[in-house]
Amino acid sequence: MSRLNHDSTEMKVALEAVSKAAEVCRAVQADLVTAGTLEKKDKSPVTVADFASQAVVCSIIAKIFPGDPVVGEEDAADLRGDQAELAEKVAEHAGMAVEDALTAIDRGNHDPATKPASRYWTLDPIDGTKGFLRGQQYAVALGLIEDGKVVLSVLGCPNLDGGLLLSAVLGGGTRVHAADGSSHPVSVSTTQDPAEARFCESVESGHSDQGASAEIAKTLGITAEPYRIDSQCKYAAVARGDADIYLRLPTRAGYQEKIWDHAAGMLCVTEAGGTVTDITGKPLDFSLGRTLSANSGIIATNGAFHDRVVEAVQAAFTVPA
Ligand code: AMP
Ligand code: MG
Repeated sequence: MSRLNHDSTEMKVALEAVSKAAEVCRAVQADLVTAGTLEKKDKSPVTVADFASQAVVCSIIAKIFPGDPVVGEEDAADLRGDQAELAEKVAEHAGMAVEDALTAIDRGNHDPATKPASRYWTLDPIDGTKGFLRGQQYAVALGLIEDGKVVLSVLGCPNLDGGLLLSAVLGGGTRVHAADGSSHPVSVSTTQDPAEARFCESVESGHSDQGASAEIAKTLGITAEPYRIDSQCKYAAVARGDADIYLRLPTRAGYQEKIWDHAAGMLCVTEAGGTVTDITGKPLDFSLGRTLSANSGIIATNGAFHDRVVEAVQAAFTVPA
């Protein structure tokens, strides 16, 4: 059992970091919508928000826990050299001096496979960049890993219900935070019959096999339409009972899920009473570096019929070569 709880300094830091980063992302996305850039499929705004979000989160962690490494998605190497203009935009959005922003982003370079650490954070500064660019859902996801286990997490979903903030602690449950600073526990759904279940999956067909999930849903007797939503908002949906199942079925052999795409969301679901495994029913192994190299795909459920979903997936699905 972790010594951490919802009042721990780690949780206060994580909540502050994700809330501030979510504000940065929200401002950039609002600009995108008003400037009409969504139609242009220009990826540069998401790049600015991605880096600024990582800068904000890493600098807040560094202030209180200077010795904690961060395994982040972004790398400031892309911002150095001839990218001065981009670096300035990033720093401006992060509200930091350029060099401070770059230093903070660099703190996210940690690779636990080459430099083992007993404790580190993992960050997806904007999970679901495609959703962000469509003006839809995305998440800021921060997890704390100790001895290879996710022990604490905060998941910000800035566009879900006008802004959803979830936190979870191993052994301490999952909570939803209101803007006034109050919070309350959340639980997964009480659905017992898989035929009554609603499942969620990626909007992007390249990230999860939607044809296969439709077949599997049919074998389980599911009639509800899939809830397609970008990012770890899918884990938030299962954690608070908006959906009962999350399926992520690999579209190709060899793709390794990234730890920052799952750490925060997984803990929110398991601490809300749900179950998360890969498609073979194995627990996710966060102890192997930047990826979940021992796992394939994801199945998250409310826990009431997890084995039946795993069986249905195993019977109907093989990872394409
Ligand atoms: P989602 O919003 O659930 O579609 O997932 C977004 C995440 O999918 C991104 O953060 C990527 O890291 C990840 N991703 C990229 N390519 C793939 C792939 N081929 N299969 C599964 N996930 C992927
Ligand atoms: Mg991601």
